[in-house]
Amino acid sequence: MSDATPSAAAVRQEQRARRLLEAKLTQLAAEAGSLAVEAPEPGSQVQYGKRAGDHVAEVADRAARSRTAGELEKLGAEVRAAVGKLDAGTYGCCDDCGQSIPAARLEVLPWATRCVGCQAQPRR
Ligand SMILES: [Zn+2]
Repeated sequence: MSDATPSAAAVRQEQRARRLLEAKLTQLAAEAGSLAVEAPEPGSQVQYGKRAGDHVAEVADRAARSRTAGELEKLGAEVRAAVGKLDAGTYGCCDDCGQSIPAARLEVLPWATRCVGCQAQPRR
């Protein structure tokens, strides 16, 4: 094999990232599916008229048990965006500043599309 790819390690990393991202999308789809079954009517479980603190605690409790549909959607969009970056060959580059995202960050967050510094900035 005389493959003249400059960085075989980078290619391997991208292949691994793609597998992780696809697995994540599958997992999110499954989570969204179970969410649809478990939460028949949004709002029906939260009763108003109680003390305000009760409502907050209830919401926090539900959030702890499973991600909300909105969160799943947001995460799904991030994962799909990362897959798009793989396709475009820009995977691992920050969307905002264009610098490469540290491998350690991609290790824990394969769908990261921005570096830690830019992620900390509120998006305009
Ligand atoms: Zn950045």
